[in-house]
Amino acid sequence: MIDRYAVFGNPIAQSKSPQIHEAFAASFGETILYTRELVPIDGFRAAVLAFRARGGRGANVTAPFKMEAASLADRLSNRARLAGAANALRFEGDAICGENFDGLGLVQDIECNLGVSLLSKRVLILGAGGAARGVLEPLLAAKPAVVVVANRTAAKAESLARDFEALGPVQTARPTDLKEPFDVVLNCTSASLTDEAPECNPRVFGRQTLAYDLAYGKGLTPFLALAQAQGAGRLADGIGMLVEQAALAYEWWRGKRPRTAGVIEMLRTPLVPTAQHV
Ligand code: NDP
Repeated sequence: MIDRYAVFGNPIAQSKSPQIHEAFAASFGETILYTRELVPIDGFRAAVLAFRARGGRGANVTAPFKMEAASLADRLSNRARLAGAANALRFEGDAICGENFDGLGLVQDIECNLGVSLLSKRVLILGAGGAARGVLEPLLAAKPAVVVVANRTAAKAESLARDFEALGPVQTARPTDLKEPFDVVLNCTSASLTDEAPECNPRVFGRQTLAYDLAYGKGLTPFLALAQAQGAGRLADGIGMLVEQAALAYEWWRGKRPRTAGVIEMLRTPLVPTAQHV
């Protein structure tokens, strides 16, 4: 019987996960069935259990169900526990195991694909929602000099920093108060999804800065355009992170780590201004 996987979310039509996982399987000469599952907002648990009953082997989870996926898991990795969210599930007999590969995927993309070591670097995170929480542990494990979390709602940044302060140097600041360039600036806000730039002092971008927008498929977002206008040396969107977290999930499910470069290339959107920005 063909091995079945799925991605659960609402909305879900936009998900690139089936394309990514089918490309991974093809690279090994394997065939899997990977579907998109549109889940009613109050129907996540039932949908996962029904999928497992139909023979599902594992699943990815996207917005807005990542936190619920962590609660549903019988066994949760330490990383997913710290993130308070799971983006991958694996069915082991009666048990549901939960993992979170988002942050590892981000670090893999920055360090291996973009060639930027995080060791001793100054990293700025804009935003303090689910994505920021999910990436903090792997980022701190890469031993940066400091991670500063700056969010529109300051209390959320402070709460996040408190939760992770035992793992490394995390500080908070108001986005407009930052006046020094950072080595890496991560847009972990959802502002790009509505074609806005998160508020931040333009001085956070310098010639050496990698400006990285976790959003993908949106071309030169207002955040990346701002970074470019300030002379930031490197710009990236989140497609590499998406593909890298998928590769980690594939390996977790199937014991083989796929190569990612070709799939990233296949999905990459050029970072050029969209019609709205020119
Ligand atoms: P959440 O809704 O959990 O958090 C949103 C965050 O963005 C909050 O901190 C919020 O601030 C802030 N924010 C929203 N709008 C604005 C704005 N206009 N200006 C400033 N701050 C704003 O979202 P997620 O954390 O789940 O997602 C964030 C981004 O990460 C999305 O673009 C998502 O697509 C991307 N992502 C990419 C992944 C990948 O694989 N590449 C994986 C996961 C996420 P406040 O607290 O003040 O409301």
